[in-house]
Amino acid sequence: MGELIFFKPFFKQVIWGGSKMRDVYGYSIPGDDTGEAWVISANPHGTSTVCKGTYDGQSLEDLWNGHRELFGNLEGKEFPLLVKIIDANDHLSIQVHPDDTYAFHHENGSQGKTECWYILDCDEGADIIIGHHAKSREELEQMVAAGQWDTLLRKLPIHKGDFFYIPSGTVHAIRKGTLLLEVQQNSDTTYRLYDYGRLQDGRPRQLHLKESMDVILCPHTDRDTKRAVEHHEGYEVCTLADGPYFTVIKWDVKTHVSISQNYPFMLIDVTAGSGTLDNCQVKAGDHILVPAGYGTLRCQGAMELIATHI
Ligand code: ZN
Repeated sequence: MGELIFFKPFFKQVIWGGSKMRDVYGYSIPGDDTGEAWVISANPHGTSTVCKGTYDGQSLEDLWNGHRELFGNLEGKEFPLLVKIIDANDHLSIQVHPDDTYAFHHENGSQGKTECWYILDCDEGADIIIGHHAKSREELEQMVAAGQWDTLLRKLPIHKGDFFYIPSGTVHAIRKGTLLLEVQQNSDTTYRLYDYGRLQDGRPRQLHLKESMDVILCPHTDRDTKRAVEHHEGYEVCTLADGPYFTVIKWDVKTHVSISQNYPFMLIDVTAGSGTLDNCQVKAGDHILVPAGYGTLRCQGAMELIATHI
């Protein structure tokens, strides 16, 4: 057993940000252009901070460096995951991330990035970009050179509750009117393929065409599989992702469920509703680390939990 560790997010203001995180979760955001909340982050560019209990005031980075026993004494220089909430009030640029091998060789030994998106809310008619329609690398290069973005990019309609798994090498972009939870490898390596020709402070943002073309998987193959929901007394459960970097499980608590925490650590994001986790009150917008050796987590209430472990 141990205690549940609650985090306060690090917020990032960006031109495409909004104010939904205040409206939906009651966060004290720094402005109406808040695009990202780094809700579970030990990333040096913005780390989340413990907001109560034994470790109150310490950052996740402090815990990772000073209390590795909370993470089952996992090895590694950096905490492996990064969880964000993203509020897109405009289209984000079209991006792609390298895999570990490419990032290691071309980005000073950094990690690549595989990520996934869970749609928390979106506008009517909202969409997302995942993958592309080029059949060969030649065709991809031609279409990029000719700027045929509308025919190249694979646009999909989205709805609240949808989930997308985005392995490294997959072209992707969040579009206007989307609030989502992002679970990813803790890495900042992003290549920008296209930015809708927009200007920021009078000039286009930097593109990384060569690197993008190096890493984009071609043709795109949708590796997403159908996800079965299991119905049980008191709850429903669905495995959203089960890959080499993380496993993500959605727990729809109707009245109660017990979750075993036998992993080096488990992250819990409360994405809707409210209730209790053992003797702690929780509500939508809470983000919690369940440490190593915790054992059984008893959940009661009516709430949706996204649980992640490696
Ligand atoms: Zn990305």
